[in-house]
Amino acid sequence: MDERRLAIHGGPKVKTTPFGTGKRFGEEEARELLEALEQNTLFYHHGKKVKQFLQDFNELYGVDYSVAVSSGTAAIHVALGAAGVTVGDEVITSPITDQGTLIGILYQNAIPVFADLHPHTYNMDPASIESRITPRTKAILVVHLAGNPSDMDAIMAIARKHDLKVIEDCAQSYLCRYKGRLVGTIGDYGCFSTNDFKHISTGDGGIVTVNSGDEEEYRLVHAFADKNYQRLQGQVRRDLSYLAPNYRMTELQGAVGVAQLKKLRRICETRRRYGDRITEGISGLRGIQPHQVYEGGTCSYWFYMFRLDLDALTCSRAEFSEALAAEGIPNQPGYIPEVVYLQPLFQKRQAYLNSHFPFDLSDVTYPRGLCPTAEQILQTAVRIRVSEFFDEQDIEDIIQGIRKVTAHYQKP
Ligand SMILES: *Cc1c(COP(=O)(O)O)cnc(C)c1O
Repeated sequence: MDERRLAIHGGPKVKTTPFGTGKRFGEEEARELLEALEQNTLFYHHGKKVKQFLQDFNELYGVDYSVAVSSGTAAIHVALGAAGVTVGDEVITSPITDQGTLIGILYQNAIPVFADLHPHTYNMDPASIESRITPRTKAILVVHLAGNPSDMDAIMAIARKHDLKVIEDCAQSYLCRYKGRLVGTIGDYGCFSTNDFKHISTGDGGIVTVNSGDEEEYRLVHAFADKNYQRLQGQVRRDLSYLAPNYRMTELQGAVGVAQLKKLRRICETRRRYGDRITEGISGLRGIQPHQVYEGGTCSYWFYMFRLDLDALTCSRAEFSEALAAEGIPNQPGYIPEVVYLQPLFQKRQAYLNSHFPFDLSDVTYPRGLCPTAEQILQTAVRIRVSEFFDEQDIEDIIQGIRKVTAHYQKP
């Protein structure tokens, strides 16, 4: 049989063994959970688990202060609230992201403004960020997509020049380095998610780091996630001077988090090795543009996403994706169906049911073509799952699958 014949045309499949799988949770988590229950309280401020989780996280990240919250979305909302983002302010962010990036902006009644992306790192282009700045701009919400560090030197320089806060959305980006520094520690706040799909899971949960190292600011962030209850200075004070949600993490989540954090280094290291190996294996292939990481940066590949150069191929993205799947390599065309600003919330300017507030405070619009590179990325990208449970053979099979399908569809 001709080895080069595509499986979709009746040829042999590249992948003949199942992808590696494994258990994320084990006795370590069970022990921590039992200890949490034996405390006879599951409230974070009375128990030890959330405190331990944060202490371990702070040590790992080299920060003085962080706050545990109920989700990554909550982490971002808390950072925005603490940064003073409020009604009518503009926040510049990425059009390719989870909606968790956007929810806090709109709950603060601020206006999301979208910057275009670098074509191959899928992170915000600093020149585009700067072009979106207006007198209403208050913050830049940087999304390090898929574990890939953004160009933080350029972004921090813009922020300083225009006196803007920088919030890093690191939900997909644990232990990623930009010029040796961990992302999440470079801006004013780093926001992490421990939802069940991220590198580590507490079921749901999140963390906000307070990178100024300022204790007073830490107290502000802490209170913003806890209904503005002031708990850090002796007697509890129920401050009701402005709005702050309840985004508390429970001891059960904290307990699982303590055990999960111990596994984080190995998880990220394995994913980094696998992702970088895929890039090595598909680099220089005509028709394929690998997932690019900044020179000197490290990526922990929450997923691997390459792009097709359709001018060099005879197939559509859908045909490529189906042919690759037939080789035994599961993949998704793109990441989200459309850039976020083309989705109904922005097109209808409706953040709250039956209201156009806060969009009616603003003349910002969201036309197709606003971020052309981002739109093109989603039309030409193919996304592959990366897992720390895969083995070396799985990664070689992914590479061979991509190479085989590409070779078949390459224009002469
Ligand atoms: C997962 C994710 C979030 C939100 O996290 P939740 O914990 O699900 O609220 C925010 N931003 C990005 C980029 C994410 O991937």
